[in-house]
Amino acid sequence: MIDTHIHLDARQYDAPGEVIARARAAGVRGIVVPGVSPESNARVLALAAAYPGFVHSALGFHPESCDLNESDLELALAQIHDNRLRICAVGEVGLPWYGGRAAAATPAARDHLAALARAAAGYDLAMILHAPHGAAGPALEIVRSAGVRRAVFHWHKAERRVTSAILDAGYMISLTPETVYRDRDQDLVRFVPLSNLLVESDGPAPHRGPFAGCVTEPWMIARTFEAIALIVGDTPAALRAATTANAIATFRFHPAPHRAIQPPATGLPAICGALNLYPTPSAIERRRGV
Ligand SMILES: [Zn+2]
Repeated sequence: MIDTHIHLDARQYDAPGEVIARARAAGVRGIVVPGVSPESNARVLALAAAYPGFVHSALGFHPESCDLNESDLELALAQIHDNRLRICAVGEVGLPWYGGRAAAATPAARDHLAALARAAAGYDLAMILHAPHGAAGPALEIVRSAGVRRAVFHWHKAERRVTSAILDAGYMISLTPETVYRDRDQDLVRFVPLSNLLVESDGPAPHRGPFAGCVTEPWMIARTFEAIALIVGDTPAALRAATTANAIATFRFHPAPHRAIQPPATGLPAICGALNLYPTPSAIERRRGV
């Protein structure tokens, strides 16, 4: 399993080594950590250096961050250039949709994304796109016309027509733990071929349903695979293998060796329904002394 999108540099993860240990214990073989600003990009590079072979870095410029300006964009582009041989993608980048910037698939935002897409195409890097709902179509147009060869529409949600166009372009769709509890995402599983699927936690963004109150961590994607398996009638193991291969083809890194899934220490309460293989939020909080 590869968690293709987690902001491990976020302040919520004050002990990244513990997050990684729990991920490994759940069978995760690598994580992609996308930066969102020049400062975040620097932290992401440091994490990749600290956990080589497991943390794979992407450098980006998040479109929803109102405080990012032209000079931040220039800095991010310079970071991408300087680190082009050690990163696996340009991201997180995209077009704004939420909040005050919702109306702003502005010319400036489109220009920013176009510049980042030209960089990704020029360096033959994948792109990790934040382009929810109505932002997906315009983002697709920009990325495709820049000649980007590999792109991921992360936490994808858009109308079917746009999803079809993304698939026709050969790009990837990634699913979050919402798949476990949300009809919209389960419908997406039925629509997207396995060859175009990736899985992510998008931590620290919180999830609801059985994950309510949990700090989002990579181990949660194991639950996503259980949910996908129920929908498509395949085994979680087969789905994990197929999407790991998709991640390798998209990001072109080598995952860490597989480790057998280890059951947690005894005495942990059950989490999130069916299986009792993974740590519970309360157990995690207890271990961290919170
Ligand atoms: Zn993100």
